[in-house]
Amino acid sequence: MAVLPIHYPKEILTALDILAVEMWGPPGPPRGAAAGRIQSYVCAVVRNALAFLASGGAEVVDGVLFPHTCDSLQGLATQATDLGGWGKAAFVFQHPRGGERASARRFALEELRSLARELEAWTGRSLSPELLAAAIRLHDEIDGCRASLLDGRARLPIGDPELYALLRRGEWLWPEEHLAELRSAVGRLGPEPAQTGLPLLVTGYVPEPMSLLATLNDAGAFVAADDYAAVGRRVVRRNGVADADPWADLISRYLAHPPCPTRGTDLAVRMRHLVSLAEASGALGVLVHVQKFCEPELFDVPAILAAFTARGLPVLVLEGELERSLSGQAETRVEAFVELLRARGRAA
Ligand code: SF4
Repeated sequence: MAVLPIHYPKEILTALDILAVEMWGPPGPPRGAAAGRIQSYVCAVVRNALAFLASGGAEVVDGVLFPHTCDSLQGLATQATDLGGWGKAAFVFQHPRGGERASARRFALEELRSLARELEAWTGRSLSPELLAAAIRLHDEIDGCRASLLDGRARLPIGDPELYALLRRGEWLWPEEHLAELRSAVGRLGPEPAQTGLPLLVTGYVPEPMSLLATLNDAGAFVAADDYAAVGRRVVRRNGVADADPWADLISRYLAHPPCPTRGTDLAVRMRHLVSLAEASGALGVLVHVQKFCEPELFDVPAILAAFTARGLPVLVLEGELERSLSGQAETRVEAFVELLRARGRAA
């Protein structure tokens, strides 16, 4: 099943033996003329996804899931299915906005059960509480490994391109296969720092183009703290099950995700989270890497600038459109930013 960004109940898909293959665009120029059916002021993720679906790029999958992440993705769910672009099965998932509330739990439960019923009918499989509980345990373990790698980033002796290639394989691998390679990477965490570059906090949408990571490393910096929507914001840190009922536990897991603007997190809560990430990692600067025209992400940028400027941490805002590679201009800005951090370090 192709899945559009960002948050969706992967545990249910795993329990029903459905392989999720996430579509973050895909990157690069649109793969067909259908991109032109979307307004030019909509993000490249949505324009590229419609072009990809309508040109047959996703023919290998049997269905697509549209989480209601933002207005643009809600529009895509209608465009692709009602107006042409996708003729196979399509599912939507509406998630609750805001934090922990009784009404959010009720809403989430109804949405999750409704999606599960649709997927059971589609696959002809039955979702038992045991299967769901096992899938939750599996994804808890995956997130535990991902958290160890991100939290112990400075002690991991690999570059950012290799780390992110590993983390992002979780977007399309079978979860058991991904867990095996994550466990092996966790085994490489050493007792001492293995990174010599300048530590950065990176917050944003998706690390595309991936060449940004090599540019950062080559300039002498590394991602010490990750708040990408595609990566760090989907890592749940919790110890064991929160509820014996797997449905209630699934909702607890969902509500335990780090703050994310697409889930309607309170702005002050998110800023406290970002500041604590920066402090825990010793970040010397902040890179905000967002998609052009992405309303949920861009809405928070002024608050991010204010929060870190007040703490004396330089911030670089980089907007992208899912380019295949970083432009020369963007590369120069990243290199100049890292040089600025280095000069500040020398002057201190
Ligand atoms: S990049 Fe932003 S606007 Fe585009 S689909 Fe993602 S959340 Fe929505």
